Amino acid sequence: MTAPITPSFWSPALEGLEPYVPGEQPKTTEKLIKLNTNESPYPPSPRARAVLQEAGLAEKLRLYPDPESTELRKTIAAEFGLTADQVFVGNGSDEVLAHAFYSFFQRPEPLLYPDITYSFYPVYCQFYGIEPRTLPLREDFSITVEDYAIEGAGGVILPNPNAPTGRYLPLAEIEQLLKMHPERVVVIDEAYIDFGGDSAVKLIADYPNLLVIHTLSKSHALAGLRLGYAMGQAHLIEGLNRAKNSFNSYPIDGIAQRVATVAIADRSWLADNCGKVIATRERTCEELSKLGFEIVPSRANFIFAKPPKISAEALFQALRERNIIVRYFNKPRISEYLRISIGTDEEMDALIGACREVL
Ligand SMILES: *Cc1c(COP(=O)(O)O)cnc(C)c1O
Repeated sequence: MTAPITPSFWSPALEGLEPYVPGEQPKTTEKLIKLNTNESPYPPSPRARAVLQEAGLAEKLRLYPDPESTELRKTIAAEFGLTADQVFVGNGSDEVLAHAFYSFFQRPEPLLYPDITYSFYPVYCQFYGIEPRTLPLREDFSITVEDYAIEGAGGVILPNPNAPTGRYLPLAEIEQLLKMHPERVVVIDEAYIDFGGDSAVKLIADYPNLLVIHTLSKSHALAGLRLGYAMGQAHLIEGLNRAKNSFNSYPIDGIAQRVATVAIADRSWLADNCGKVIATRERTCEELSKLGFEIVPSRANFIFAKPPKISAEALFQALRERNIIVRYFNKPRISEYLRISIGTDEEMDALIGACREVL
């Protein structure tokens, strides 16, 4: 229930805002197979979970946390061969993205991104008064890098792999983008990179205009912790810190700092977890292809698939009635596709069974 609107109390800017709509988070997940928001089907690293039992952790809450998340940034830096001044952390990568839009893209020139992409980008553009210029993906949802050779662009942002398609853009093409726009920041949002892509982090030393953003929400199974981070040369990180310290000095609570530090250092857990998800993804793609689905090649923890015979919307509804939630986007060009997060093998078997029944 929304309260009656009282526009007279609202700033004029607020009235026209169209906020981001997150995927459904049902109040109870009992008996529900939840494949709609790309969370991990497995719990986070046991080491990260053990942190929550540490003596004195709750007492920590009496004091403000380290505003600079020093230990956490050092750990991330060590993991990626960077220095701590090349790392910025935020309350989820959405917050990191918001600071990046504010810090680098508020310019008279338009920001370039694909027409089909993470739907928070247009929201940040509106929020910060940035003009977007969307560039169409090809029919197969791949990115045409040459299209981005636009003079007088205010910057470039794209997820790699892209969302909600799962398609991956090779690093050589990311490098082309960086060379096209040496005076502007290129943000690569690598929310899904651990599920089979090569990270652009290795290009940071050579490109002062590159910012790479990661999250613990997907591959680290810590969506509820709210932790994302950006990596880039120190001058970009300094810019993000200015924005952050003008908004909220303490975005990462002390518990999140500790859990994230341990989670990031647990590399072997990450490799195992992603390996399991990738194996299930490949098997699911095979089974759905056999049923006649058209599937976009995915390097993420979800697949983007077009059902045969019935509309995506009808299948979405039919699955919902069988207690399986996937994501349906009623938007141009993608309204015949469903985005299906990869769950456990048992969950995917239930999905495949339900699709077989419906079709
Ligand atoms: C999930 C996702 C995010 C947001 O992740 P949080 O860290 O949970 O805020 C950012 N970008 C893309 C492309 C995503 O899919």
